[in-house]
Amino acid sequence: MRVKIDEDACTGCGVCESLCPDVFKIEEDEKAHIINPDDCNGCDCQEVIDSCPTQAILIEEE
Ligand code: SF4
Repeated sequence: MRVKIDEDACTGCGVCESLCPDVFKIEEDEKAHIINPDDCNGCDCQEVIDSCPTQAILIEEE
């Protein structure tokens, strides 16, 4: 399982970073980026996905 950001949908609101700062970071382009994909163990992923106001966080099954 891998998390991805739909950069077209992301507004850079920062909700994901505040919930899971080890994995999500707002970069200089004011979009969320996955900084440590290997740190995502899925623990809070559904909460973060549900909290994103624009449904910009996607899960890819591997
Ligand atoms: S919660 Fe969604 S819209 Fe907000 S910064 Fe994260 S990915 Fe972007």
